[in-house]
Amino acid sequence: MRYQRQIIIPQIGEKGQEKLKKSKVLIVGAGGLGSAAAFYLASSGIGYIGIVDPDIVELSNLQRQILHNEDHLGMPKPISAMITLKKLNKQVNILPYLEEINTRNAEKLIHSYDVVVACPDNFKTRFILNEVCFKKNKPLIIGAASNFEGHVFDIIPPKGPCYSCLFENAQDDKEQVGILAPVAGVIGTLQAVETIKLLLQIGEPLHGKMTIYDGIKGTFREVRFLRDSSCKICE
Ligand SMILES: [Zn+2]
Repeated sequence: MRYQRQIIIPQIGEKGQEKLKKSKVLIVGAGGLGSAAAFYLASSGIGYIGIVDPDIVELSNLQRQILHNEDHLGMPKPISAMITLKKLNKQVNILPYLEEINTRNAEKLIHSYDVVVACPDNFKTRFILNEVCFKKNKPLIIGAASNFEGHVFDIIPPKGPCYSCLFENAQDDKEQVGILAPVAGVIGTLQAVETIKLLLQIGEPLHGKMTIYDGIKGTFREVRFLRDSSCKICE
């Protein structure tokens, strides 16, 4: 009954829904993008959702990080996320990891997952995820947003292009950037769609192409990009 409207989609069916129930997705970052992605992946019936985040819930998070609420202020974000998602869907297993992903723990963290959803707010974490996902052959769904804009694309090892092909030498801004709350929702939601497509191997993944959302104009556009032939990470 719960998944009826999904099961009647021809590309999904009962078989697809069963597959989602057995699937394991790791979400890195329980912020604005991670909130939207986690909500929709949990409500869609993904069986196992891991959530990695070292931070605690602060008041300034609540504008866009809809997994958290005023009662959860001061709580570790993965725990807050688990409480919220369990209220939505008890059948989903939520695995909280209260740590920062780094070069030492990344391989172990992603080891048992089918797909990794990158929702951090910095380049450093995305580069680590890119490298380790190629090592472990795991698809990685990238999302990023600021102000009124955001983008989404998929990285599917062992084939490039990868994150390094595109953003080589990108540095994190020291200054805080703005973000309109629902723009984070749009991008996180698109990441959830890409995740389900990859898990079920349906449709066309955003591989070698990026969807860019411009909220001010109200448009989506697609940009294709190639592998950097000197990239040492992808093939
Ligand atoms: Zn590459």
